Amino acid sequence: MSDLYRDNLIRVKEEIDSICQKMGRSSAPVIVAVSKNRTPEEVKKLLDLGIKDFGENRVQEFLDKVPYLPDFIRWHFVGHLQRNKVKYLLRLPGLKLIHSVDSLRLARKISQEGKKQDRVISVLLQVNLAGEESKFGFSENQLYRIIPELKELPYIEYQGLMTMTPLVEDAEAVRPVFQRLRQLRDMMAEDKGENFPMRELSMGMTQDYLVAVEEGATIIRLGRAVFPD
Ligand SMILES: *Cc1c(COP(=O)(O)O)cnc(C)c1O
Repeated sequence: MSDLYRDNLIRVKEEIDSICQKMGRSSAPVIVAVSKNRTPEEVKKLLDLGIKDFGENRVQEFLDKVPYLPDFIRWHFVGHLQRNKVKYLLRLPGLKLIHSVDSLRLARKISQEGKKQDRVISVLLQVNLAGEESKFGFSENQLYRIIPELKELPYIEYQGLMTMTPLVEDAEAVRPVFQRLRQLRDMMAEDKGENFPMRELSMGMTQDYLVAVEEGATIIRLGRAVFPD
């Protein structure tokens, strides 16, 4: 079993490295292994191979899993977050980044809870660029409108943008989505502010991470590419 994990990871890293070389990128993207529906034992296999960033998409599953795993893991929350779950999520040790802030109300709630714990929470803003009804996230227009209000929230730091791509057979089909997310990030990064570094681009999953890296992803979220079935 653990050979499968190693083989997967070696292949993924080689592919990423060769793209970074081709694009003249000096730093590789962070690989977040999305461990939803995986056991702590499966997570440990990847930990042993040097992966330290893991992502979950449901708060309850996250809470159940964390006690079985070492506390040096950097946890990422990548799923839709309900406001009534924020306080439980923020209590988790090792929570590094919430990728999926998709409403002003949610951002306000995170800032409130951050205040109670006296710490600033790092988040990404989720953008729904493909306009899919079934996906969460701000539309571009919404985002422009509420940026001033988002920036006023004192206990949040906006590290960048995240998007979920539609299911496609040919990853090339989503290249324009990644390009647009990068343009948006670049525009927002000009709009400086203390809590608005806007450097990260969380984009690319198993189906399309190679294209995402070509288009400048700084964080990729991989499930099936790194966990054997
Ligand atoms: C499950 C999930 C992923 C990983 O999906 P794969 O196709 O298995 O790589 C990435 N991002 C989010 C938000 C997810 O829920």
